[in-house]
Amino acid sequence: YEKELKRLANLDLIGQMAAGISHEVRNPMTTVRGFLQLLEQEEGLQEHAGHFHLMIEELDRANAIITEFLSVGNTRTSEVQMSNLNSIIEGISRLIKIDTSNQRKEIEIETEEIPELPLNHNEIRQLILNICRNGLEAMEPGGLLYISTYYRVDENCVVLAIQDQGEGIRPEVMEKIGTPFFTTKDDGTGLGMGICYAIAARHNATIEIKTSTEGTTFFTKFYL
Ligand code: ADP
Ligand code: MG
Repeated sequence: YEKELKRLANLDLIGQMAAGISHEVRNPMTTVRGFLQLLEQEEGLQEHAGHFHLMIEELDRANAIITEFLSVGNTRTSEVQMSNLNSIIEGISRLIKIDTSNQRKEIEIETEEIPELPLNHNEIRQLILNICRNGLEAMEPGGLLYISTYYRVDENCVVLAIQDQGEGIRPEVMEKIGTPFFTTKDDGTGLGMGICYAIAARHNATIEIKTSTEGTTFFTKFYL
């Protein structure tokens, strides 16, 4: 219980950090991008134009990653409206499917009819993306990511279940999930799950994790 309280105390901090980082990192990148564009067009540097172009593309890619991971905490988009979770999933499924097929993995989405919920679309998209990315990263090629939604009468909640066929999560890792910057990956940010917990808390939702050596399922439960 104490651990849960500490985790909750971290949530606000993570949101603030995320918003700050995304601004602080994007501004210098914009400057660099502008100069690269000038250099790309410079007469005397035409033999390097291809390199400058590549550098711009890489910057754009990094910028896209920042957008995906750290776009929450932006107060301008903090609006909540009664919505169907299924249509948000539908909307973001194209993006997830691109990742999935790039990594030669499979995805299956099964949605049931569910009541509408007060949702912040941007935040929920971010939560779905972050959990799906982790699921995909946990699996070998050929693995299946299974996304489903349903209503649970006994708990009066809508469940978003995201299941992977990865190796599962060891107890010592499980304890630290959601702690800012905790990652077991060489190229991880360690921000994905912390952001998810923050978003869930703002939506009267919880995230439960069920894991075994066969894989992991993240249950995000939206209480009505
Ligand atoms: P990152 O993905 O950048 O490492 P996250 O906060 O998204 O940061 O996840 C933190 C850690 O939780 C990961 O490094 C990984 O060890 C563990 N984790 C999260 N999701 C899964 C999953 N589906 N399967 C196995 N491990 C996971
Ligand atoms: Mg992640």
